[in-house]
Amino acid sequence: MTEEGMWSDLPFNVGLVYEGERIRGKQTYVELGGPKQPAKFELVQVKDVKDIKDMDVEIIGPDIPDMKEGGNYPIGVLVEVGGKQAEKDLEAVLERRIHEFSNFIEGLMHLNQRYDIWMRISKAAVKKGFNSLKMYGTVLARLYKSEFGKILEKIQVKLYTDPDKIKPIYDNAMGIWEARDARARDLSDDEVDMFYGCTLCSSFAPSHVCTVTPGRIALCGAINWFDARAAAKIDPEGPNFAIPKGECLDELAGEYSGINEITKKKSLGEIERVTLHTILSPYNHTSCGCFEAIAFFVPEVDGVGIVDRNYKGTTVNGLPFSTMANSTGGGKQVEGFVGMAIEYMRSKKFLQADGGWNRIVWMPAGIKNRIIDAIPKDIVDKIATEEVATDLDSLKSFLKEKNHPVVKNWVEEAEEEEEEEAAPMVPAGGMQMPSMVPMMGGIQVASGGANWKIILKGAKIYADEIHIKRIQPKKKKKK
Ligand code: SF4
Ligand code: ZN
Repeated sequence: MTEEGMWSDLPFNVGLVYEGERIRGKQTYVELGGPKQPAKFELVQVKDVKDIKDMDVEIIGPDIPDMKEGGNYPIGVLVEVGGKQAEKDLEAVLERRIHEFSNFIEGLMHLNQRYDIWMRISKAAVKKGFNSLKMYGTVLARLYKSEFGKILEKIQVKLYTDPDKIKPIYDNAMGIWEARDARARDLSDDEVDMFYGCTLCSSFAPSHVCTVTPGRIALCGAINWFDARAAAKIDPEGPNFAIPKGECLDELAGEYSGINEITKKKSLGEIERVTLHTILSPYNHTSCGCFEAIAFFVPEVDGVGIVDRNYKGTTVNGLPFSTMANSTGGGKQVEGFVGMAIEYMRSKKFLQADGGWNRIVWMPAGIKNRIIDAIPKDIVDKIATEEVATDLDSLKSFLKEKNHPVVKNWVEEAEEEEEEEAAPMVPAGGMQMPSMVPMMGGIQVASGGANWKIILKGAKIYADEIHIKRIQPKKKKKK
């Protein structure tokens, strides 16, 4: 390869510089996988070296010249590797690198992982001579060899575009992924001294650092604690690294001094504190863009909704996954929104600081059915789906009818509000409008003869209009 990232036998460049390249619909020559395809996959399997034809790339199904411009086709990427040190334990981390290596290619964009993959090849790349998927497979094989040469003695790549050939491998892969995920289910965050991190996505989201614990698989769903540990062991300087737990600062929310310290360092000071098991903290775990699902707060019912990437409709808050993904991702800490893996819903620590399953009020039926065995029996029928609630009104009625645990909070909150409203806001002798005086570092409120200073530290407040209304004390309703 030349310094510019050029292999003389390939018509496109390959390198880190192309990693953040976006290929929009209009620029796309052909799309592979993505939401239009029911079955697609990428999978790495360790095999006996004698069964591998080194550096071989095979296309099973139509190749680029057989595809229509603007078309969408199924895809399956099977990478088979072998070598004395190539252990089964490494399959998941090797598999996750397909995302990175694919994105090194000029004119190719790769999103997501496992059964969710979505690729686009640009018109410009095809014009330049990118006219066979064989070139793509060759780049994968070469990059694996150059990065993992000590471990991988042989590698072969099979690229499937024939849906009949994809389906059986996809079905088998679903079982392989389930077995990988199941390994970490019995282990708890409390039983280990070491967590692990991943910064593979920092080229897309520079401040994003994933913390992977037994109770919190990475939000892409592709790297669990065992996988990250295996990767950190073979290459401690690579994108996966050990995070000594340090002191537990908040057991329920999952805040540890070790995570804070390493995240601060790896995010170049951007992220100082991280909580693992809540969406209602200002220190929520950051989200890059490859999360399988989003947990979102629904303030109107004081509950948490979940929407997965494959759900096409709008959720109860009127927003689809894509809109929420834009505001959740990018490596920010967004209170009330967190990207997560489907497998995280099986964790014993699943959003435990927010009330866990007792706080979940809505999720698409597809994903609910997929993980139904993980939902506690006493709550499963109380969680709404799009089949019974499509907006906030229907959600409220459903939760009330089912007596969902969040309903109890509505009553308590309403009572508290009534108490507050009924409490004397005025000094004896007359009604006085509370006065608000903006001042350096805070707002001063004079009410009921007392002065209060409200300090909004680090707050960013946006408002199209501000209405200041006189509040008339209401009479307390009879209970
Ligand atoms: Fe790594 Fe996290 Fe990106 Fe998954 S989402 S590849 S664990 S940084
Ligand atoms: Zn990511």
